[in-house]
Amino acid sequence: MTDDEGSGLKPGTRLVTAGRHGKNRRGIVNPPVWRASTILFDSVAELRAGVRKPDDGLYYGRRGTPTQWSLAEALTELEPGAAGTVLYPSGVAAISAVLLSLLAPGDELLMVDSAYEPSRAICNGLLKRFGIATRFYDPMIGAGIADLIGDRTRVVFLESPGSLTFEVQDVPAIAAAARARGVTTVLDNTWATPLLFPALVHGVDISVLACTKYIVGHSDVMMGSATAVPGHFEKLRRTSHSLGQCVSPDDAYLAARGLRTLQLRLRQHEEGALAVARWLAEQPQVARVLHPALPDCPGHELWKRDFTGASGLFSIVLNGGDDAARAALIDGLDLFGIGFSWGGYESLALPVDPAGLRTATAWQAEGPVVRLHIGIEDPADLIADLGRGLDRFESARG
Ligand SMILES: *Cc1c(COP(=O)(O)O)cnc(C)c1O
Repeated sequence: MTDDEGSGLKPGTRLVTAGRHGKNRRGIVNPPVWRASTILFDSVAELRAGVRKPDDGLYYGRRGTPTQWSLAEALTELEPGAAGTVLYPSGVAAISAVLLSLLAPGDELLMVDSAYEPSRAICNGLLKRFGIATRFYDPMIGAGIADLIGDRTRVVFLESPGSLTFEVQDVPAIAAAARARGVTTVLDNTWATPLLFPALVHGVDISVLACTKYIVGHSDVMMGSATAVPGHFEKLRRTSHSLGQCVSPDDAYLAARGLRTLQLRLRQHEEGALAVARWLAEQPQVARVLHPALPDCPGHELWKRDFTGASGLFSIVLNGGDDAARAALIDGLDLFGIGFSWGGYESLALPVDPAGLRTATAWQAEGPVVRLHIGIEDPADLIADLGRGLDRFESARG
């Protein structure tokens, strides 16, 4: 992003100042943890006015306290053009609540075929039950999305790069085509965060983050967020109030604490992941490296055009071999954990199988796929560990 959007501060500076200008801090650097369910009013008249004091805004714990508001404000300040941010108890909760805010029975949703699997599941389960139809589309469709927009289309959902397979989408072209037809765009921006891809600047209406990943950054909190342009923000807030969604002040505190070091951590994730990815690309046991910053990745040119950097998550396609050979690689790794999620300081390896998830496009590959999250360890140690893993893979593959 350019440095003069929004506040005029560079994004790295904004990470430090964002959300820290509220009241009631009494000089404390980090907005403290305000725990509350009941808020006490001074009079019946004050209770009826709907807020305790016009300047403190407190009403009831479900509506949050200065701890959650400060985090929401910080995320809003990181997305130039945003009217506000709603926090959710997980990334999936954010995605489902955003879609429920925008869609009604009879409407149609266009969902990217490379979406995070639980996002697909929301479409094929909850939304279908409510009479909302989904059409899945090719992640590389670009401006061609216009041909899929019909009279009933209300939302185009994007995720860039795609989960598991990392196709980088032409977000500005898709957003422009949707806006021309009055269709709302929602982007799952978890991989890049607003630091590497300010979504609203690129024409998106609502940017969703699984804060669980890089915002929290330490693998110890579940949280989601949606940051929206004016008009949509109010809809999201109303739906969140109806559904009774809230996050705990303790979790909001941890997320805000993680946020302050986002730029530092992402730089290290980027550097380590690039070193590991470039090394993997040279290995004969690896057919392809699906990392947006490497030329084998679909949409690599779009990544170069639109993103200001890369994070630490990518996949490799192995050269032949079966599930057992892949397991031999992963099971013996010392420095990579085997588990879901990512975005913490530690490295992870996960077997993933995109083929069964696709409906609009076919997934074809030379062998099984491993998704890697590169933490902030020294990449030389990670490369040595993966080198031993590829040897095990080769012995098992025969
Ligand atoms: C993990 C993830 C989510 C969901 O976040 P949770 O907090 O685990 O519910 C959504 N989108 C993407 C791309 C993710 O990787």
